[in-house]
Amino acid sequence: MKRGNIAIAGAGLCGTLMAIRLAEYGYQVDLYERRPDLRKTDISAGRSINLALSDRGLNALDMIGLKAKVSEEIIPMHGRMIHPSDGENAMYSYSGRPGQYINSVSRGGLNMTLLDKAEQSDNINLLFEANVRSVDIKASTLTVIINGEEKTKTYDVIFGSDGAGSAVRRTLQAQSSRLRFDFQQKWLSTGYKELHIPPTTEGGWKIEKHALHIWPRNGHMMIALPNLDGSFTLTMFTPFEGPVGMDRLVTDELITEFMQENFADATIHIPDLLEQFHANPTASLGTIKCYPWAYNRTVLLGDSAHAIVPFYGQGMNCALEDCVVLDQLILEHNHDWDKILPAYQEQRKIDADAIADLAEDNFYEMRDATADPVFNVKRLIELRLEAELEYYSKYSLVTFRADVPYHIAMKQGRLQNKILYDIAKKTEDPTTVELIPILHKINEYVKEHM
Ligand SMILES: Cc1cc2nc3c(=O)[nH]c(=O)nc-3n(C[C@H](O)[C@H](O)[C@H](O)COP(=O)(O)OP(=O)(O)OC[C@H]3O[C@@H](n4cnc5c(N)ncnc54)[C@H](O)[C@@H]3O)c2cc1C
Repeated sequence: MKRGNIAIAGAGLCGTLMAIRLAEYGYQVDLYERRPDLRKTDISAGRSINLALSDRGLNALDMIGLKAKVSEEIIPMHGRMIHPSDGENAMYSYSGRPGQYINSVSRGGLNMTLLDKAEQSDNINLLFEANVRSVDIKASTLTVIINGEEKTKTYDVIFGSDGAGSAVRRTLQAQSSRLRFDFQQKWLSTGYKELHIPPTTEGGWKIEKHALHIWPRNGHMMIALPNLDGSFTLTMFTPFEGPVGMDRLVTDELITEFMQENFADATIHIPDLLEQFHANPTASLGTIKCYPWAYNRTVLLGDSAHAIVPFYGQGMNCALEDCVVLDQLILEHNHDWDKILPAYQEQRKIDADAIADLAEDNFYEMRDATADPVFNVKRLIELRLEAELEYYSKYSLVTFRADVPYHIAMKQGRLQNKILYDIAKKTEDPTTVELIPILHKINEYVKEHM
């Protein structure tokens, strides 16, 4: 069945997924991507090489029939492997329930899988090196530069899925007082730099493969996610300035000393540390909140509407889940876009705000709390609660319960944590503490305050 004409700005993760879904319904989709086709050119697909993919993202991939295929290209990470500054490394599972874990996926690989699927559809017109410049909200037109030529075309619906620096959002911002468009951008004083541990000579993994590695260092940290080829992508999260600031790391001696002092067990696996350190940029991290996301027939999707810091591993998962929410509303409102778009932003904004706040909180948890004994006692009690009783930690609600909206996961998770921290402070041995009274106490508190 032929439906309307749709433009999507940005063939990244959520733009391409949305295009595939809309094409399945019979919409004619022009999918515009500023970069060259990443399947044909050797370009970095985006800001980070690998990402943590969890249930919300997998759920969205399932919607377009790609979950099984993508599942062949991911590495399960069963827990956090903590590398303390002194003492033994310790693995903390993400869930007390077997079969609940997160996955490392290549951003470029996932994007290519989505583009391959999009290309198979007769209803999708993939346009690379097509730089979207602006939209006219009233006329529902999109202006794009292709091959140096400016083109303007009218559409029934225009999606801005062009990432955190969205050109579509910028057009809304340019008319912010007329549209009463709220925009807020908050930078973190911590930046990030990526490094790389190569595979062993046999193509194996030099540190534990099935873990997300964390080196918490009180004020800064490093993480590592495995890649399919045996390598690891490391990300250092370090303040731009201050006693452990990037601004101090100006000579080879200072860089080597800093890395040896803080991340010795990773540094030994990076033979070309200094070259990588100089070659790879230090990038910024921030949160973008804005509203409304939809005007007339133009709508923001994914990072363009709600860029978040990466510490819950949810930015992509949330962006992909936007497509699931839209899909449900398309069916509920029988393709009536005048109803779908207002309902989408109303339903989704509260969840996008919640995951943005949770992601910021998790920065401090990963950086500092994972090295805190009380936090680890709390986590051990939670894992036992999950393994033995009907309980989901805040992390599990966010990560493994796609049926629970982010804002509910946040509220319930925070209430649970309040009780659990009080208990953990007084607990000598988390492996023997009685669980049923703890669960009663948590449930009562949650019921009273939700
Ligand atoms: C360091 C780091 C680590 C992260 N780790 C995780 C993680 O572990 N798990 C997770 O879920 N999320 C993670 N994220 C977040 C995740 O990368 C984003 O949330 C996700 O990529 C958003 O998808 P998107 O499709 O909205 O935008 P993007 O992936 O940014 O795609 C936008 C697309 O639009 C294109 N584009 C931009 N401007 C234009 C234009 N003017 N015209 C046409 N095309 C344009 C871009 O080239 C790009 O292809 C991380 C982010 C960072 C920075």
